[in-house]
Order: sequence, then C-alpha cells, then structure tokens
Amino acid sequence: MKKYIYTLSLLFSFLAAPAQLKIAQVYIAPFRHDADGAYTLIHDDFGAEYARGIEEYIDTMNYNRKLPICFAAIVGECDQEDWTKAKDMIGHGHQILNHSMTHKCGQVQSWCTFGNWNEKDFPTEIDKSTELILKNTGKHPAFFVFPFDLFTDTMLHYLEAKHYIGARAGKQNILNSAVLSDPFLLNFAVFRPGEPVSALNDMADKATQSKSWAVRVMHGIEDESWAQITAEEYATHLDYLQQQVKQNKLWMATLSDVVTYQYNKEAAVTKIAEQNKDGLPTKIIVELKNIKLPSGDLMSHDTLTIVLKHLKATPKTISQSQLYIPFEIRDDKVIFDINLPVNEIVLTY
Ligand SMILES: [Zn+2]
Repeated sequence: MKKYIYTLSLLFSFLAAPAQLKIAQVYIAPFRHDADGAYTLIHDDFGAEYARGIEEYIDTMNYNRKLPICFAAIVGECDQEDWTKAKDMIGHGHQILNHSMTHKCGQVQSWCTFGNWNEKDFPTEIDKSTELILKNTGKHPAFFVFPFDLFTDTMLHYLEAKHYIGARAGKQNILNSAVLSDPFLLNFAVFRPGEPVSALNDMADKATQSKSWAVRVMHGIEDESWAQITAEEYATHLDYLQQQVKQNKLWMATLSDVVTYQYNKEAAVTKIAEQNKDGLPTKIIVELKNIKLPSGDLMSHDTLTIVLKHLKATPKTISQSQLYIPFEIRDDKVIFDINLPVNEIVLTY
C-alpha cells in the first residue's frame, strides 16, 4: 500500500509538472544574445604574399558587415606594412592568432615537405613570434594555430606555460560544445580545395541546428593561397552569416570571444533573489564561483547574457548598479547582457 501511495504521488507530481513550468526562470544563455549556435572564421597565413586577400578583401568585407574574424599570422613573413594592417584589423574587431614564425611542419609527415620544427625551435617558433606580435600590435596572442595543423603534446604544454589561452589542436570536422572544454583542444574544420562553397553555409547551419560552436578554417580569397575562393563566393557566405546573426540564430565571434564567454558562464551562477506578489522577479543575483580564469588581458570581454522565461508581465526597466540595461523580448523570453562582476540586477514592472 505504501508503495502504491508513493507511485500515485509521483504520478501527481508528474501531472502537475506543466503548471510548474510557468514559474519564472532565470538562466545564463549558452551563447551571447541567446543565439542558437556560434561560428568562428579563421583565415590562415596572414603576412604571406600568396594570401594577401586577407588584407585586401577579407578585413573590409567582414568589417562592413560587422562580422569579427580571426587571422593567423606567419610572423616571419610580416613586414612593417603588414603590422600596420594587422593593427587596423584588430581595430576592426578582428583577432590576431599566432601561426608560428616560419610555417614549418610540427611533426614529420611524408606529405609535409616544408621543413620540420620541434622543441629546439621553441625560442623562435613560439617565443619570438609571440614577442613580435605583442611588440607590433600591442596584443599578446591568445591562441596558437599550427601550420598544417601538425603539433605535439610538448608544444601544447609549452604554449600553456607561455600563457596562451588555447590552440587549434582538437579533432577535425567536429563542432565544439557550447560548454567550456579544454581550449587547447579546439575542434575545427578546414575548407579544402575542391570542396563546394556551399559547405561553408552548411557548417554554419550545423552549428545552429546542434546548438554548438563551429570553428571554420580558410585561407585567402582572390589570391594564390591554398583553397582560395573568389570574392563573390566569399561575399555570398558572409551575407548568409550576417542574415543568420540578425535572426539571432548565430553568434559570429572570435576564438577569444567564445572562450571568454564560456569561462564567464562556467564561473557564474544566477538566481532569482526576490519576487513581487505577482511572482515576478524583482531582484536577480549572479554569484561568481572561484574558478581559475585565464589572465585578464587575454579575456576579450566581461559580459554574459541572461535569459528570463515565463514572466507574466514585461519588465519596465532592468538595471545593474543603477544603470539601465537594454533588453530584448524574443518569443517568451526577456534577454539582456550584464557586465561582470555584478552585485544585483533590479527589475521594475
Ligand atoms: Zn598556414
């Protein structure tokens, strides 16, 4: 009999569940602006003459559409003009990545015939290239991307000791989760010669559909780089990305933007602290757990997107430290960005 009552009460609580769902909820969005997926575009081989499309087209074409990208510099190939251009690109919201000093193979492979590098070359390939990027752009590179995507564990450990946040050294043709995992093992997909250009939009769609983060690697356009495409084909892809961003399906962001967001999300716990008599939240708090974060100058922002669901009324104001926060109503959600650290968020109706 006792067992029967227990089963019955479980049944009742199950039946009551839909009603409970209507209670106001607060949570941190998986991606900024509560986009479904995230997308990072990396253009390798900046500085090399054969990849000049990066500076000639790619920078401006993305900037005009307010889309930030990453560009990976072969540091030994960068002359003064390239450094000036790199600074402009950083000013346009793009992120510089370290693609080594001389673009050699990090593992001996029969197909890689450009010379090899190993621990003996760290002072040049990692230390000197890092210093030159910092000296010429004012930015310590936060991520390393390996030439030909060839590397060893020793290289990854060395980069970690040198205060890098991460590296493109995960699996190929697999998306990354929205949740923070090891940023030294970022998964990525390289656009290859002969691949249809439609594969670019397809990957963005996959990120949206599976609520994941795609890291897409390309080279130049309208130049002699590996797997280059035309400016027209590239524009078609960017127009599609821009439209997906506008519809809040996609968050187009740099590697640092996404990983910083993931660290902030990992560190934060949000809850409703006070409600009014109608059950509407009037005070929300965001507590920060004590987790190890990368050094502040490598984190690219201090924001998080908060989502409120199932509110029976629309807030009149939302504020943090007496400053009004702009918010958006989308579907049945109230969505807004906060700056960390935050004491409390106050809502009025
Ligand atoms: Zn390369």
